[in-house]
Amino acid sequence: MSEPSSSSSSSSPMWSIHYDIIIVGAGVAGSALAHALQSVSDKRSKPLRVCLLERSLSEPDRIVGELLQPGGMAALKKLGMESCTDGIDAIPVHGYAVVLNGKPVHIPYPDAREGRSFHHGRFIQALRAKAKQAKCVEVIEASVSELIECPVTGRILGVRATRKGEHQVEKEAFFADLTVVADGCFSNFRSTVMGSTGVKPALKSYFAGAILEDVELPIKHHGTVCLVKGHGPVLMYQIGTRDTRILLDIKPPLPSNIKEVVINEILPQLPSSIHLPLHQALEKDRLRRMPNSFLPPAEQGGSHTKEGVVLLGDAWNMRHPLTGGGMTVALGDVVQLRDLLSDIPDFSDWKAISRVLHTWHWRRKPLSSTINILSVALYDLFGADDEYLDILRVGCFKYFELGGECINGPVSLLAGIAEDPYLLFRHFFSVAFYSIWILFTQPRMRSVDGSEKLVPVRPSFAEYPSLVMRGFICIWTACVVFLPLMWTEIRWW
Ligand SMILES: Cc1cc2nc3c(=O)[nH]c(=O)nc-3n(C[C@H](O)[C@H](O)[C@H](O)COP(=O)(O)OP(=O)(O)OC[C@H]3O[C@@H](n4cnc5c(N)ncnc54)[C@H](O)[C@@H]3O)c2cc1C
Repeated sequence: MSEPSSSSSSSSPMWSIHYDIIIVGAGVAGSALAHALQSVSDKRSKPLRVCLLERSLSEPDRIVGELLQPGGMAALKKLGMESCTDGIDAIPVHGYAVVLNGKPVHIPYPDAREGRSFHHGRFIQALRAKAKQAKCVEVIEASVSELIECPVTGRILGVRATRKGEHQVEKEAFFADLTVVADGCFSNFRSTVMGSTGVKPALKSYFAGAILEDVELPIKHHGTVCLVKGHGPVLMYQIGTRDTRILLDIKPPLPSNIKEVVINEILPQLPSSIHLPLHQALEKDRLRRMPNSFLPPAEQGGSHTKEGVVLLGDAWNMRHPLTGGGMTVALGDVVQLRDLLSDIPDFSDWKAISRVLHTWHWRRKPLSSTINILSVALYDLFGADDEYLDILRVGCFKYFELGGECINGPVSLLAGIAEDPYLLFRHFFSVAFYSIWILFTQPRMRSVDGSEKLVPVRPSFAEYPSLVMRGFICIWTACVVFLPLMWTEIRWW
């Protein structure tokens, strides 16, 4: 397995192993890719040697990646990993319930499609077990501290990592023809790989998470999104027989007294069946927090980025977790990368890898752009913090109430079933125009003839000029939300 390689560091051993591919991080993307490379290896006369480096192989305990959309389930199946949701007490998910002012609207997945929700750690351990089963993969528990760069060409030759446990060697060198960095949202290597083409992740909000016990959601086996005034949306989904995850969206800066904010401002707006379990959860445990960032994907390969290395998963591309699309994008990316890498005889051929990266960048767009844009656009509407976004938010809720294609279209996009940014464009602007229709036609509560009692009154003709003005501002607001997001996806440099 091993062959001699010189290392520039005095702390590295004389003998280092040379692999075809090193993968940094055995999370969702890294483990799936490691497993997928076995099918690439099977097609070769000389089997591949793949090294999967993970800083901790114990079961992760995180508040991320707990709902896998039907599109992600389909990708898992294409990778031959569908059994990873078996035996982990996963819950079937049949769609969503969106709740505004205590009123839920039912948004089922089309064609009886199903997602799964689960404890993240259990799913990751199942993915890792699959990666370990692949004959070409060596899984090593080691923390990667740096990328090894050729001092002459600048090419990445591998990584330095420190193993956990008794065989610990400080900053051992691992060499490979190609290094894939899948070290997640807090990636340490993102800026080194992307260089000047890199964009910094933009912090959109935080999720504060807790686990509720024995809760009944408004619609069983459905993800629940509660729209809350003054704060971002609240998400709930069952992740085990007795456990339900609650994620509360908090806008930055994080208040020091999150629990008080939750109890006084958010909890009263949630369905009453949630109140007691949420109180109990807050007493029992601290609220866990995670930043929700947006990082559009920039093209990799060629002379844009470092040679010999590729970013994958959250290290490269992130979206708001409101729509639970991150794992679906990561697994979809792995399916495509596996297929494209199958045709490359030599992973040290950077020109060939660059061509693959170019094709991959554009081929993944139908799925990834749809999920990326939808997540942030929907978050801006659901977390509305100005008058016009609020009009769009109410319009969006009413649009769902129309049913039929007004539900099927948006939920298929969210579920990763419809991979179509243009369909997203159509529904988004249909929501915007429908919001204006609602503005003109929906009765509003007002006092009449000086009485204190509020009654529903339709807007009068005299109000139309001001409503036309507000309508224009609504469309402008929709454009300001949507078009810059679309631009991040179609820019080519
Ligand atoms: C609050 C929140 C909720 C979310 N909920 C959902 C959801 O319900 N559904 C969904 O589809 N997506 C969700 N996401 C997104 C999803 O979690 C990510 O898209 C997905 O986990 C990305 O996978 P990854 O492999 O890139 O990163 P990860 O799964 O985070 O894996 C990275 C791995 O790299 C390892 N690592 C890091 N640094 C090193 C190092 N130096 N050396 C060795 N190993 C290293 C880590 O230990 C980890 O195992 C959520 C995100 C957030 C923030």
